[in-house]
Amino acid sequence: MAGTVIWEKALPRNIGFAFDLEKGQSVRIRSQTIIDFVCFNRDNLRERFDQARTKANQRKVFISTGDMLVSKLNNTLMTIVEDTFKEGHHDLQEGMCSRKRHELAAARGMWEKTYGRPLSEMPPRGCTENLATILAPYGIALEDVPSPFNIFQHMIIHPDGELEHSHIRPKPPGAHVTLRAEMNLLAALSTCPDVSVGGTTGATVTVLE
Ligand SMILES: [Zn+2]
Repeated sequence: MAGTVIWEKALPRNIGFAFDLEKGQSVRIRSQTIIDFVCFNRDNLRERFDQARTKANQRKVFISTGDMLVSKLNNTLMTIVEDTFKEGHHDLQEGMCSRKRHELAAARGMWEKTYGRPLSEMPPRGCTENLATILAPYGIALEDVPSPFNIFQHMIIHPDGELEHSHIRPKPPGAHVTLRAEMNLLAALSTCPDVSVGGTTGATVTVLE
């Protein structure tokens, strides 16, 4: 189990953050909002997290302690070593929210039901813009940001395939997930502007030896 804290950072809601992880180090992410999390092989940034391989290799659509994040080249990027989110599951179906996604939901009259607040509170940007901005200095274009591991995003998957948003999120003071790097990585996350739980809570990111 991970031990000594190397560094810790508190993040506000609706921001992107990128950081390096050496093989064997772990990152603990604590939040009450959704965290859109992606990672890349530090020595080949074209090798990235892949939702499909992560699901197919492990024959499941919900992952938790003991499960892995797998790359498109079929290598293990990370292992989940701790998961205290007991209210729901993490998501491996959805992409990322964005201003465009929000505008499409509004155009379909789905904004308030999906995002749980009035149209006047539509955020100026979403996880897509947050991750694209924070990854641009690494030469990773928006189009090359993979669909993330959506931590704390509880989606309801109906037997007929319907995918339903839920407003289930970690209860205060939040839950955490700890992931161990299985190779040298570039990791990045967005603290989602989702406001299903209200408030302005972001996340605390802790890297452990
Ligand atoms: Zn989001």
